[in-house]
Amino acid sequence: MENAAPRFVADVMLGRLTRWLRALGYDSLYDSAYEDAALAELARRENRILLTRDVELTRRKNLHVLLIHDDKVQSQLRQVISAFELNDVSAFTRCIECNAELVTISRDIVAVSVPPYILKTQTNFRGCPQCGKIYWRGTHWVRMRRVLSEMQNDE
Ligand SMILES: [Zn+2]
Repeated sequence: MENAAPRFVADVMLGRLTRWLRALGYDSLYDSAYEDAALAELARRENRILLTRDVELTRRKNLHVLLIHDDKVQSQLRQVISAFELNDVSAFTRCIECNAELVTISRDIVAVSVPPYILKTQTNFRGCPQCGKIYWRGTHWVRMRRVLSEMQNDE
């Protein structure tokens, strides 16, 4: 990658969008308790792009903001992808729940926490060092992959 990957912070309206950006591997903060002033401050301090549905927020100074136009999450994602030329090179490397980078974990370690069927059919597991969530290439993964590739084929 030529430039550092863009990092984001999203307003309270954009929780689902945040999860998609994390699934793509982009560092994206979200907390439903963030208020406007805190959002703006966080975006400035950490040099993040503020994603918002709120026109008021786009008027603040010294802030890199993208006003999100649509209510539908797929349109929102498409808008962000095209605005910042995002790619899926780092897809599925970040925790969708808490934004931490995932680490590879061995089957021995996951054996106690995933259902036997999953253990039998999956070989690669990743885990979140922050919240403990375990990821594998299950149906959810396949579904997201499909949505992402459909989105790229549309262009
Ligand atoms: Zn996590």
